[in-house]
This record gives sequence, structure tokens and C-alpha cells, in this order.
Amino acid sequence: MLLSLYANHRGEVLEHPDFYMLGRSGYHWMVPEKHEMMPLPKGASLVSIPGNIPAGLDHNDQVTGIEYDPLSPGQPISAVAALLPQGFTRTLLPACVSKDNAELPLLGYAAVGFKNGKIYVAAVQTDDHKKWHPVNYHTEGLPARINKMLKRFPENRIYRQLANCSLCYGCFTAQNIFYQRWEGGIPSMTKCNAECLGCISESHSEVVSAQERISFIPSAEEIAQVGMEHLKNARDAIISFGQGCEGEPSLNAKNLSAAVKDIRCETGQGTININTNAGYTEGIKQLCDAGLDSMRVTLFSCNEANYISYHRPQGYELSDVIDSIEYARDQGVYVSLNLLAFPGFTDREEEACALLDFIRKNRVNMIQFRNLNIDPDRLLRHVSAGGEALGMVNLLALLQEEMPEVNLASYSHTVKRGIS
Ligand code: SF4
Repeated sequence: MLLSLYANHRGEVLEHPDFYMLGRSGYHWMVPEKHEMMPLPKGASLVSIPGNIPAGLDHNDQVTGIEYDPLSPGQPISAVAALLPQGFTRTLLPACVSKDNAELPLLGYAAVGFKNGKIYVAAVQTDDHKKWHPVNYHTEGLPARINKMLKRFPENRIYRQLANCSLCYGCFTAQNIFYQRWEGGIPSMTKCNAECLGCISESHSEVVSAQERISFIPSAEEIAQVGMEHLKNARDAIISFGQGCEGEPSLNAKNLSAAVKDIRCETGQGTININTNAGYTEGIKQLCDAGLDSMRVTLFSCNEANYISYHRPQGYELSDVIDSIEYARDQGVYVSLNLLAFPGFTDREEEACALLDFIRKNRVNMIQFRNLNIDPDRLLRHVSAGGEALGMVNLLALLQEEMPEVNLASYSHTVKRGIS
């Protein structure tokens, strides 16, 4: 069994000699299965969980909240978790006890433990993570690259937005626009037609959103300029509408469609992708007709009641999302689900069945597993799912077995419309 980890008053991470690690799935604490744990991957970071102490299992199989440092009697300690880089899906949340009942920040905490001199995390690899490894970002040369692009395109407000996103929020898809490689983000919409519980660009709770929403709607010319520059010069190029600093991009279909047409007149290279809630079907149709290659649809649940409770759609329903997917597939657009994964909910039998049914009926090409960043207790107050929890690893195996033609991944890959 793995030992529990804690952070002492100096912020050092240490293993506790008297307690075994526990993980959390939904409302339940449990000892992790071997296949639910892996050595902490490069690029992951260890963090203390604000206002929380770890819960552990003692040698008499008693579950306890661990308050004090065994090495410094009376010194309070904090719970510890890992934040995973893209490419890894969390299998268990940390088992911890809140001391202040404050809502946790919008971070994807994963459970950790210690054994034979190594730190392990409750995760499984679901994609290659080289391109998203933090070592590739925030490099010394980034500010100079940003300045060079801002000098080349002084009038283009998107580059100024992305410069702020790169330097202030540390956004990787913003930085890729300046590194001229891989997936680059192009934000373009201030408003949204949903109010997701875990929205990272506009807070709907006591926690502050991770980033500020873009304050302007760029013109088709500004969008096309950034898109052409990236697709013509970047390796493995993808441009993605729908970033963490904006609302719902399809609401800006008029400008985006005009830009997509202009871009495709200029270059056939790379992939034009949209990250969307796909609720505004008319907008999605315009973008598909304009030349979109791929569409990633964010979904917390395929069960209508849980979909509504989490996304709180304004003026659309899950059936509109399905209509958008159907139209996109009919046009040969590659469709992925951006499944907001939460151990003890997503892997419940009822949710797993709804997911399998949804994929079968809607010709989905890929499922991207996204660790949902939200306070577990706040989320579970709004949603519920029946049946046993299968375990995230078992859910992945079930999907692979039942739907071998559907790709399982963690992020968007280069594709071309019509080829799927
Ligand atoms: S669809 Fe995106 S921008 Fe809109 S509320 Fe949800 S997370 Fe926020």
C-alpha cells in the first residue's frame, strides 16, 4: 500500500509513516487499486490543497483526518495533490478534510501517495504528452517572439490578447501562436449561451475564474490574419476557436465563417478546429459550410438532467447539440467530445451507459478526457448518477472494447475534414 503524503508548515512534501493513502471517487474514500496509480509523470506539479488536511488509513484500518506533523508535534499540516499535464486522466480525487469549508479553486486535483522512494499519482496516460510538456513553454525566448509578432501586426487586437494570455495566464495555446507550432488558440467571443458550473472564463460561484474573458469581438480580417499566419508557418498546425478566455465562439459565426473562407482561399494547410458547446446549431452549420475541419464539443454528461444541471444552457437544449453534431458529421467534419471527467460521476454505470448510447447514435470520432477543475462538493450538490462506480480505468477499457473505432485521447490532433 502507498503511504499518505502531506505538506508541512514549510511547504515541504513528506510521506506519513503511520497512514496509508486514500483516494476519493464521488463521495467515497477508498484505497486505490494498483492499476489506478502511476509514477508521477514529468510535467506534473505537486500542490497543497488550501484549507484541507489529508485523510489516511491507519494500521488498524481506521480512516482519520491527519492534523499534525509527526516530525514536528503540534505543527499543522496540509493535504497535497498533483496537477496533471495534458495527456493524463485522473482516476481518483484526493481524500481530504476541509478545515474552513471554503470552496476549492478551479483546479484538477489528483490523489497522490508514496512508495519505495517514489511519488505516485492517481492517473492513467490517455495521450502522448510531449507537445504539452511544460518544459516546452515559458521559455527564455518567448517575450522576444511576442514582441516580434506585435511589431509585425500592430493593429491586430488578437495578438495583444494572446500576449496577455501567454504572459499573465500562462496559456499554452496562446504561446503556440508565438512559437508558431502545434495547436494555437484564436479567441473571438465575449458572450456565452451557457453558465457552466466550472466555467474558467466567468465565475458563477465564490471562486474567482481562472482568467478574464476577452473584452472585444475581433473582425473577420483580424481572425483570418492570425489564422493564415499560423497555418502557413506552424508545424502540425491547428487553429482552435473557443479558448479559456472567451465565451461561446459559434455565437460569432458570421465573422468566424468569413475568416475560415479567407484562410482556406490562402492555404489548405493544417486543421481549423472549434471548441464549442455546439448549442447554437445555426452558427455551427455556417462554420461547417465555411470549411471547418474539426469540432470538439464540451460535455459534462450525456444524461439530459445532468447536462442541464452542469451547463445551465441559455436558449438551447441537448437536442440542439445533437443536431449540430449530426450536421457536422454529414459535412465530414471530425467530431470529438471534450468529456469533463470526474471520478465517481463519469464512471458511474448510468453515466457510462448514456455516454456509450450517445456515441453510438451520433457517430462521434473521438473522446477527449478532460480532468474537470471544480470543487467536488459543490459539483456533487448539483448532479447525481446511479449505479456502481466502474473506476475511470475500467471506463476507458469499456469504451475501447465497445467502441474500438472511437479514438480515446486528451487533446485535439491534426485532422482534415472528410477523412474519418
Ligand atoms: S460554454 Fe465555455 S465559456 Fe460558456 S459557460 Fe461553459 S465553460 Fe464558460
